[in-house]
Amino acid sequence: MTYTIRLFTFLIFFSFLSCNKEENKKDIVKEAIAFPDLGEDGPYNYGQTYQGRNGYTTYYPGNIPVILSIPHGGDISPSEISNRTYGVSVTDSNTIELGIAIRNYFYSNYNIRPYVIINNLKRTKLDANRDRIEAAQGNIYAERAFDEFHFYIEKAREDIITKFATGVLFDIHGHGINPDGFNDLRTWIGYLLTSDELDNSNDYIDKNISINDVSIYSLLNSSGQSLSELLSGPSSLGALFEDNNYTALPSPQSRSPEGMRYFSGGYNTFRYGTNRNFNFSSIQLEFPFQGLRDTPQSRNLFAATFVDLVQEYFLIHLNIDLFSL
Ligand SMILES: [Zn+2]
Repeated sequence: MTYTIRLFTFLIFFSFLSCNKEENKKDIVKEAIAFPDLGEDGPYNYGQTYQGRNGYTTYYPGNIPVILSIPHGGDISPSEISNRTYGVSVTDSNTIELGIAIRNYFYSNYNIRPYVIINNLKRTKLDANRDRIEAAQGNIYAERAFDEFHFYIEKAREDIITKFATGVLFDIHGHGINPDGFNDLRTWIGYLLTSDELDNSNDYIDKNISINDVSIYSLLNSSGQSLSELLSGPSSLGALFEDNNYTALPSPQSRSPEGMRYFSGGYNTFRYGTNRNFNFSSIQLEFPFQGLRDTPQSRNLFAATFVDLVQEYFLIHLNIDLFSL
């Protein structure tokens, strides 16, 4: 009996010692890592590609006032980053491929390119559409990738403001089958307005929702249209989708979710669409899988449509002709 207790005490003491040792080791490792200053791989030139640390982030500088950010399409799972322990971890499949198809279509048909920033890490390692704490969950390598992802976006925005005075970031995502089994084939367009807010009448929206609460402040300012027109009027982004045989929400056909599942925009949409220090807008795009991002054919077909409707959107609301900049 006594022997058992002694052994037990010894084991506890030993594990306490080894725990301490582990923690010391961790501290030493933490102190030994010094990342280069952000921006040391710059300046960022159009036509070149920048990969970030270990290729966790890709940055393609562009030459039109359009940014495509792709936070959830990555599939890299390095062992130096332990899995995130809370939050969503589902990959938005084929969204990187979709973004690249859009980039390629801009270039091959109009000789221009959007700025594209991609998180290549799997969402189990980094969620690049959450605040830094939830995104990286304390892992220094994931934190570095998060910092680089946003640094590249900020450099892209800075370049765009300098050259064009305003621009739009599209944060690209994919939504799957709803928990109730319904497969919504509409693209969910997020301006930071919740389902409940969108469920109101146009009159209510225009009278009661402040333009400070949406991510398209600069578009509202320059277009001269009301908020409800920007959301579901005949020249809203949703309307342009529908004019081109893709359904969308909100849009003239689907003004509001009416109780259906819908994502109104996340961290990136908020961060780049509500900062009044910049004349800049941000829109979240949650694309369905079937018929849009499932095959190379679907993606190429949609890319062609998307390029044309972004051109139209910029002409109508920002008075910018992307094809002749
Ligand atoms: Zn997503």
